[in-house]
Amino acid sequence: MPEPSDSDRRKAAQMEAWLASSRLVDALERGWEVHFRCQYCGTTKTWRRDVMLGRARGLLGETFAGIQRKAACPRCPGRVPIIWISGIQEPGARAEQLRWALITSLLDAGLNPSDYGYGWRPSAATGKP
Ligand SMILES: [Zn+2]
Repeated sequence: MPEPSDSDRRKAAQMEAWLASSRLVDALERGWEVHFRCQYCGTTKTWRRDVMLGRARGLLGETFAGIQRKAACPRCPGRVPIIWISGIQEPGARAEQLRWALITSLLDAGLNPSDYGYGWRPSAATGKP
């Protein structure tokens, strides 16, 4: 197989708009697992909630587009990993429950929910973030 070109790699790494604009804190709220694959050496890694609340906590307010730009492969100098997520994408009736669970998790981790746009009143009720 020929080596993929830079444009092939850009294409492979392209995320759907909803994912590119989602934040890491959204992944934490919805219970997603975030997967990364290096396009150069194939190394994969997965972020679950322990990582999101642990060493990746500084990125909670960052979008996946931003995380992808910053990400570096742990094994090689490869940049721009392929990112995908697993887990329930539309929480439906559980939305409010997940939201409160997230607020509790952030507080337990010593983080301030309002730093990430989570207030004490559901935004749907006020129409404001
Ligand atoms: Zn790599």
